[in-house]
Amino acid sequence: MNQSNQNTPKPPLTNASEKEPIVVFTGAGVSAESGLLTFRDMGGIWNQYDVTEVASPLAWRRQPELVLQFYNERREKVIAASPNAAHYAIAQLEEKFDVTVITQNVDDLHERAGSSKVLHLHGEIRKVRSSLDSKLVYEWPEAHLVLGQLCEKGRQLRPHIVWFGESVFAMHEAAQLFGQAKKVLVVGSSLVVQPAASLLAYASFEAEKVLINLEHANTQGNYEYLQGSACEQVPTLVERWLI
Ligand code: NAD
Repeated sequence: MNQSNQNTPKPPLTNASEKEPIVVFTGAGVSAESGLLTFRDMGGIWNQYDVTEVASPLAWRRQPELVLQFYNERREKVIAASPNAAHYAIAQLEEKFDVTVITQNVDDLHERAGSSKVLHLHGEIRKVRSSLDSKLVYEWPEAHLVLGQLCEKGRQLRPHIVWFGESVFAMHEAAQLFGQAKKVLVVGSSLVVQPAASLLAYASFEAEKVLINLEHANTQGNYEYLQGSACEQVPTLVERWLI
């Protein structure tokens, strides 16, 4: 490096890492107003399909066609849905913060609303992967995946979804992000599905912590609770945090 380069004043850094890190943790409730049913509201669906018959490795071995049909129906609905005001407000937080969205949802509505860092703990319905090599993951823009559609190693493709009995993705990274966050916003989760719900305990004592949900969820009292729908409450909170 020559002398003149050394003396050239550097422009101020404005990259994302200078912004305060925050975490937004979402569950099915954030997508409810986009027309996607929550787990609980899925009574009808789970009546048609026993969950162990459609969302487990055993089900995949025994009845792959039924499993694919179940996820094809879910994928159709996700493709037809659009992000709502809560997804857009969460994306807007990036104006001021280094935001990671950690979601239990398998839909892609956070990405479509503009969030740039999204960790999907339970997989992504618009992706598929090899049933032989879990590292072979593919974008899947179509609604349907059927038997006979194979990965490059010649094995059947399966939904890129964490089934019962399988390991949740990125838990270690998610726990670290919770621990570093200066603010934590939890939206639309019953906090009963483990191990995802246990992440809340990693938030630091000093972090500002807010829970938005239609009904009270078990946060052991250390979260400010704003009762109401995601579309009503999230934009208001985001406005407060962006000031
Ligand atoms: P959950 O169904 O257990 O709980 C949803 C929570 O959202 C409830 O507490 C409910 O009171 C609240 N809620 C409902 N409508 C709301 C609204 N409009 N605004 C704010 N809150 C609202 O969901 P969970 O905690 O995410 O766990 C269930 C599992 O279901 C997760 O693993 C998730 O992967 C899966 N799931 C995902 C989707 C999706 O991808 N959109 C949909 C259904 C289920």
